[in-house]
Amino acid sequence: MEFLLFEKIILLILILLSIIIFLLQVRKIINNLRLGKYENRFDKAGKRLKRFLSQVIFQSKVISNRPIVGFSHALVFWGFLFFLLGTLNHFATGFGGTLFGYGLFNEIYSSILTIISILVLIGIISLAVRRYIIKSPWLTYPSPESGIIISLIGILMVTYLILRFYHNGTVLKTSWWIHSITILFFLDYIPMSKHLHLMVCPFNEFFKSFTLAEIRPLDLENLEKEDFGINLISDFSWKDILDGYACILCGRCTEQCPAYNSSKELNPREIVLSVKEAVRKRKIDKPLVENFIPAKVLWQCTTCGACESICPTGVEHLPKIIGLRRFQTAESKFPSEASTVFKNLEKNFNPWNYNPENRNDIIKKLNIPLYKKDETEYLLWMGCFSNYDQEYQKVLSALINVLFAAKVNFGVLEQEKCCGEPARRLGNEFLFQSLVAENIEVLNSLNVKKIITACPHGYRILKEEYKDFNGNFDVFHHSFFIYELIMNGKLKLKHNNEISAVYQDPCYLSRYANITAEPRKIITKTGINLKELKRTKNKSFCCGGGGGTFFLEETEGSRINH
Ligand code: SF4
Ligand code: SF4
Repeated sequence: MEFLLFEKIILLILILLSIIIFLLQVRKIINNLRLGKYENRFDKAGKRLKRFLSQVIFQSKVISNRPIVGFSHALVFWGFLFFLLGTLNHFATGFGGTLFGYGLFNEIYSSILTIISILVLIGIISLAVRRYIIKSPWLTYPSPESGIIISLIGILMVTYLILRFYHNGTVLKTSWWIHSITILFFLDYIPMSKHLHLMVCPFNEFFKSFTLAEIRPLDLENLEKEDFGINLISDFSWKDILDGYACILCGRCTEQCPAYNSSKELNPREIVLSVKEAVRKRKIDKPLVENFIPAKVLWQCTTCGACESICPTGVEHLPKIIGLRRFQTAESKFPSEASTVFKNLEKNFNPWNYNPENRNDIIKKLNIPLYKKDETEYLLWMGCFSNYDQEYQKVLSALINVLFAAKVNFGVLEQEKCCGEPARRLGNEFLFQSLVAENIEVLNSLNVKKIITACPHGYRILKEEYKDFNGNFDVFHHSFFIYELIMNGKLKLKHNNEISAVYQDPCYLSRYANITAEPRKIITKTGINLKELKRTKNKSFCCGGGGGTFFLEETEGSRINH
């Protein structure tokens, strides 16, 4: 195809104009990211790159979460990547050149692009059917932007196929110009639309934390920093702000949220979008809570992690929710039940009004040995529920029997304070850090190296979150520990083929710690007929007791555990 000089000049002007508009918008986004705090997300570059290849380039997470819809998205994404190079070649032809030459390579690349165009067309038709005909309840409506993007991609694919197979001069040139103008318009439209995620998601996945629901410690020592949690936009990290741009409004987080599913106002997607809205309007002096996010929704979150775990674009919901709770707590704006929990933790070192001495009763009753420095191998961290809750003490009793039967050298602390989990999840970082400091001092004074926990929440805190305070221990959840005992032949099981049982994956074991296989293997090794719930493993449905909500009244909607 030949191009006249004036056509080349027009093309050059259009390209330059499009690039300038695009760069101006990118600059605006970068300026918005700079409203947030600096946070180092450039560490572990090799590990980040590996995850990037798997989750972004090969789209593994999107496809595994929803195979059909995910594969449609993946087709569009792969097509997009392939078309990037093809697009450069397309514009080169407008100036009389070519990137690929006219030989075999060009023919192979063009043939692959042809197949991809057809697959992308199928992909966007299936996405359009889902949005406009099936009308998935988890998508946002109306969404003219989605219609525009679907149309633009459709035009690009159809015009590409015309360019490939049609040889009539006028039709060919008209298609070439439509294809070119659509690309240039697309480039400028993306940063203005929610489809900015096409550009942002790969970065967001790259910078995502390696720990689900990572809660970074507040610097309470340095009073000048006034690090009390999140109140204004400037209290968020730049990654929190990037999350807003990466959100594709797919609604997967909302679909999984136990609070939303029990008719409460909390909607994790709206938390992310509210932050984006505040940033977009540059409301830098306006507190987020009540101006953009209702205070009550913060206390409806069970910190189950389902939202963050399912999100295909690397959005981290929980640092925002806990960060906002922290500031509310620092301002004493928390539910009255939380106030009772804090007072009890300060006075009794457990979240209830139990005398800490009561703990001795269960230790004596079950004949549990005390931990002896340099003699005992494992510390059994009993946890507040085992210490004081009579129902949960059945679990403790069973665990003690198992440890005795397997001749494990274990012991418990003479006095055990709460690990601090409810305080941290309810936003009271000061109380949490003081409990952590006291506990680590005791554990280090006894030279404790290995800890078994009887509770998934204690497991997470002791294993992952004590590290930030120099509390480094080998921590085992009892389900994992028991499985190892069986596999090492230290525990012989009796078989019972007459019982059927259901195993409910605790959020803090399945999603947070990826422990789903061991409990099931233990159950099936006893001969019990294991039945699966509808939502299992890392998609399990929360029991409704996490994030401190166990202690709060559930006043809105239905109860999560019903
Ligand atoms: S952590 Fe769980 S309860 Fe909280 S917003 Fe996410 S899905 Fe909802
Ligand atoms: S936060 Fe993630 S899961 Fe939720 S709507 Fe946005 S992209 Fe989807």
